Amino acid sequence: MDAEKFKAYNAKSIASSPYWSRVPQDVKDALASVSKVLPFRTNEYVLRELIDWDRVPDDPVFRLTFPHPDMLPPEDYRRLCQLLSSPSSEAAAAQFIAMLRHRMNPHPAGQMTHNVPTLDGRPLPGLQHKYEETVLFFPAAGQTCHAYCTFCFRWPQFIGSENMKFNTRESAELSQYLLRHPEVTDVLITGGDPMVMNAESLASYIEPLLAIPHLQNIRIGTKSVSYWPQRFVTDKDSDAVLGLFERIVGHGKNLSIMAHYNHPAELRPEIARRAVKRITGTGATVRIQSPIVRHINDSPESWQELWTTGVRLGAIPYYMFVERDTGPQRYFELPLAETYDIFKAAYQGVSGLSRTVRGPSMSTLYGKVLIDGVATIANEKVFVLQFLQARDPDWVRKPFFAKFDPVAVWFDDLQPAFGDSTFFFQDKDESVSRKPIYLRRENPSEHQLVTAS
Ligand code: SF4
Repeated sequence: MDAEKFKAYNAKSIASSPYWSRVPQDVKDALASVSKVLPFRTNEYVLRELIDWDRVPDDPVFRLTFPHPDMLPPEDYRRLCQLLSSPSSEAAAAQFIAMLRHRMNPHPAGQMTHNVPTLDGRPLPGLQHKYEETVLFFPAAGQTCHAYCTFCFRWPQFIGSENMKFNTRESAELSQYLLRHPEVTDVLITGGDPMVMNAESLASYIEPLLAIPHLQNIRIGTKSVSYWPQRFVTDKDSDAVLGLFERIVGHGKNLSIMAHYNHPAELRPEIARRAVKRITGTGATVRIQSPIVRHINDSPESWQELWTTGVRLGAIPYYMFVERDTGPQRYFELPLAETYDIFKAAYQGVSGLSRTVRGPSMSTLYGKVLIDGVATIANEKVFVLQFLQARDPDWVRKPFFAKFDPVAVWFDDLQPAFGDSTFFFQDKDESVSRKPIYLRRENPSEHQLVTAS
């Protein structure tokens, strides 16, 4: 049988998919409008294998794939539809769409400003160096994905606005930077999805890294294991990709495939399972990570099936993240208290081999904050928190406490417990009640630009 060829669909081409007739007309109409703000891209494999069309529009992978009008505040959605319905409003519609995108905190946790390192005084915009031992690298050729996730915090990468993107074409700069930073043991190659690159391009970025003696771990962040597992099984250069993986391991480096799986359906097809087996067969590891997202995986059972299936295949449960403060966060968010309960119930229901997972974790400006529990201390109900990773390594694993708040959905919603005005890692003059995005709680119809603080 011929290998399946990758076939992508976007807003312009989705009507040609044989599955499109299964979508109710009102859902199609809404999608036509909302996708002008939030991009979507999917492929034939996702449509055929991962979506249960009898459950559309509520199927979790359908929600993961196609934007929904509730992702915009109602007044904004109405205004958008109004502008789009009038040909004379084309310029006003474009302006409105740009404003909506900018208001969605396109670069959370200071990723455009706080984490960009320099080389000889020059900023390296395609690198991020937030934690001492790890550098993130955004190769220019890997800044798209086999399909887009509606919750994605990298969505500005896909909308074609140059001032909202970051990446680099200069892999040589990465090597130079690493050679000058012996404290860096890990490089995470990320995107988008680096696995959209062919084997040759990927090798051109990775092979120079093999000569850097202090580099121990190469990680590749990818969703291809779920959205296009053919990348490791039947694509014409899949053997070359696996050969590259073997070379990395053969050089004494650890290779970790940081696999984004958001729902257990993604590990049910036979080819998805073969992909994991083929990757681990090279000596690389596969680690499972995902945010917890309302409408998609907000049940303990989802996580249990994902982790236990992963473990059976040889993959390692790694992170449950909290949905980030960007894009349509309001649509996907869950209160931290509920998130913690789901994590705990899922964790309690799996064997020790799945308990390698860490979470729920928030990737904040300061570092990765883990919700360790809810407790009552000195008559005050609190969230028990700690850093798993931090800008300052001294902060890591040091417990700290926030007032319990049943509706808080993100770190910026939390207040220090026990009457403190700031958390231990914040300057005394720093406001802990910073609300970086319009999506918090205030009047969403104030059409002003608000950027990450
Ligand atoms: S695959 Fe990853 S980077 Fe790509 S859209 Fe999904 S979450 Fe975003």
